Amino acid sequence: MTKQKLLASLPSVDEILKSGKGLEWQESYPRRYVLQAIREIIEQTRQAILKDEIKEISLEDMLPHVQHRIERLSVFSLRPVINATGVVMHTNLGRSVLSEEILENVKKVACGYSNLEYDLEKGERGKRYSHIQRLLNEITGAESSLIVNNNAAAVFVCLTALAKGKEVIVSRGELVEIGGSFRVPDVMSASGAILREVGTTNKTHLRDYESAINENTGLLLKVHQSNFRTIGFTKQVEIEGMTTLGKKHNIPVMFDLGSGCLIDLKPYGVHIEPTVQEIVKSGCDIVTFSGDKLLGGPQGGVIVGKSELIEKIAKNPLMRAVRIDKLTLSAFEAVLMNYLDEDKAKVNIPTVRMLLQDVNEIKARAKKISMRLKREIKEDVAEMDVIEDSSQSGGGALPEIEFKTFAVAVKPKKLSVNRLEERLRHGNPPIIARIKDNALIIDARTIGDNEVEALVKGIEGALL
Ligand SMILES: *Cc1c(COP(=O)(O)O)cnc(C)c1O
Repeated sequence: MTKQKLLASLPSVDEILKSGKGLEWQESYPRRYVLQAIREIIEQTRQAILKDEIKEISLEDMLPHVQHRIERLSVFSLRPVINATGVVMHTNLGRSVLSEEILENVKKVACGYSNLEYDLEKGERGKRYSHIQRLLNEITGAESSLIVNNNAAAVFVCLTALAKGKEVIVSRGELVEIGGSFRVPDVMSASGAILREVGTTNKTHLRDYESAINENTGLLLKVHQSNFRTIGFTKQVEIEGMTTLGKKHNIPVMFDLGSGCLIDLKPYGVHIEPTVQEIVKSGCDIVTFSGDKLLGGPQGGVIVGKSELIEKIAKNPLMRAVRIDKLTLSAFEAVLMNYLDEDKAKVNIPTVRMLLQDVNEIKARAKKISMRLKREIKEDVAEMDVIEDSSQSGGGALPEIEFKTFAVAVKPKKLSVNRLEERLRHGNPPIIARIKDNALIIDARTIGDNEVEALVKGIEGALL
């Protein structure tokens, strides 16, 4: 056929739209993406004709290209990935993982109306915070509690409500920066509180706090060092010392605990992470922590402490700007319900389960993945071995603790390991893994049993 004839025989947008496939697409995809894809593929075909790259055209041949293009356009931007890094609370990969059971509760609350701010007993306006106050108080032992959007907001609103225009005494060893631009001195100045640094980078004593106290002191603040440690010739003041000092001078003591661990980790070999319960018991007046770090819930910032101070914080106008929504609130209630029995939390909260799971379980999963891979992939394509390795908790928590883990090391033979990593990242679903010693490491700790098939398929496809 001549070029002219070929061009004349190109189908119109309308023709494709009205074809069987065209009608099907309009049912399942946004119409504007269907149109865009059709136009692009027609144009692409026109260019190919002009360049003499094709000698004939048929609608049948064009439809799969349109379909592929529509699928590419309609893919969700925020979507699931397989976390093969072994980092349980991976901030870039969404931190904590919620279970189906927890989401069931969210679904019930979110797909209809709820008593979010309605007191069913009295038949009048209620408070959204009331729904989890009882649980939080019971679990942490605190008098009262509040919950906001995240821990950064919790710290900010507490500082504003309790210490605006007043001095807040902090140890120089605790003026930390957490990822994503949360820096204690910056948060402090934004809140209107005046930072009063005491001690040195490596050592701060109780007497340093005491001699800094004056009539304009609003708060003694302790900050969890989170993602770093000072080692060697060091000293930070324990919370007990600070609460005693606070009581003596009638100044409230606040602890930004970062992770907010509710389970004693000592039986798991972690001796440096205090529980929220211990900190509350020490007499600390206000404790703040994240909902989606060690606690394993949705993004949120929990504030627990003395009723009088909590009331003051609750009344601050900022609370409206950092208020938590009903989806998060219902997820939190379901997560916290599990903490009433610690054993349930260890099984039912995915983040906690992945962190504390028995290493033999991880080993068995790594072996299963490796066996499935070996069945699908020939030895001249890639070498696969189960190796012992270590994973980190992530989420700025427990930085120096290495959790023993098992992984599958994949050594591709027909492409570079970097190329393999990239292909997996671009896959569907994307698989995120790390490279070590020229092998791709698939850490079995963070792979769900229901993800093994997709993982094997993804790796198999990427190696071709
Ligand atoms: C993580 C962390 C924060 C910030 O918490 P988000 O919930 O991420 O806002 C604040 N302080 C400390 C000590 C932390 O570890």
